[in-house]
Amino acid sequence: MYIPIENEVFHVHTKRCGHAGNYEDREYVEMAMALGATRIVFTDHAPFPGNPLGNRMPYEQLQEYIGAINQLREEYKDRIEIQCGLEVEYFPSYLGYYKELRGMKNLDVMLLGQHLFEYADGRFSIYDQDRSNEFIGQLDAMVQGVESGLFDVVAHPDRAYRKRTEFGAIEKEYADKLITAVKKSIYPIRLEYNYASRVEPGYFKDEFWEGIPEDLVIYGYDAHSPEEIKEGWKFFKDLNLTKKEWVAEE
Ligand SMILES: [Zn+2]
Ligand SMILES: [Zn+2]
Repeated sequence: MYIPIENEVFHVHTKRCGHAGNYEDREYVEMAMALGATRIVFTDHAPFPGNPLGNRMPYEQLQEYIGAINQLREEYKDRIEIQCGLEVEYFPSYLGYYKELRGMKNLDVMLLGQHLFEYADGRFSIYDQDRSNEFIGQLDAMVQGVESGLFDVVAHPDRAYRKRTEFGAIEKEYADKLITAVKKSIYPIRLEYNYASRVEPGYFKDEFWEGIPEDLVIYGYDAHSPEEIKEGWKFFKDLNLTKKEWVAEE
């Protein structure tokens, strides 16, 4: 189970996804150490059997990724803690796959990153021409993911609204559904305030975060280069999160 700690670098990608910088895994670790982090959590984009989606490692590379990060964990164990995770979309037809991932002993963190959703007939929403209402399917999928009990954190939940120009009643209704599901969850699951969303125009919605209890929130980087860890570190330090007290739950 994932328990957040202070001074960790959470949500880091690797070159395997194809849209990150061409850096070695250890360069991310070295940057986190140089900044004084006590832990770094890799969460590269999860592949799916059959490789139905792009922008991620092929399924055939999954064991190499897990093996490489765990080898680093061992190598650096006296200097910094390293965790291995995956950022995964929730698609109902892959429930068995998530259970399989959750059961892998060298995989610590399941990060629910709903970049698209799956229709009941198996189609993916990324192929829709008009994606302005995609947030509805994405938020519904996030709720299902939370209720599945198989995830630790919901990545950038507000990013689903990136195609919305305002945050009105319908947007709020779906946000409330997710927040209610997170609050009702019998195991701890958290919502990720995402640094990359914060710096990408339209990706961050202040309205989403209003009134969410602090113990449900964690701070993630979504770094696709070591430099983004450095920038995010400064950003979060400036946000003054030092008063924050993590509630460690079992
Ligand atoms: Zn990415
Ligand atoms: Zn990410």
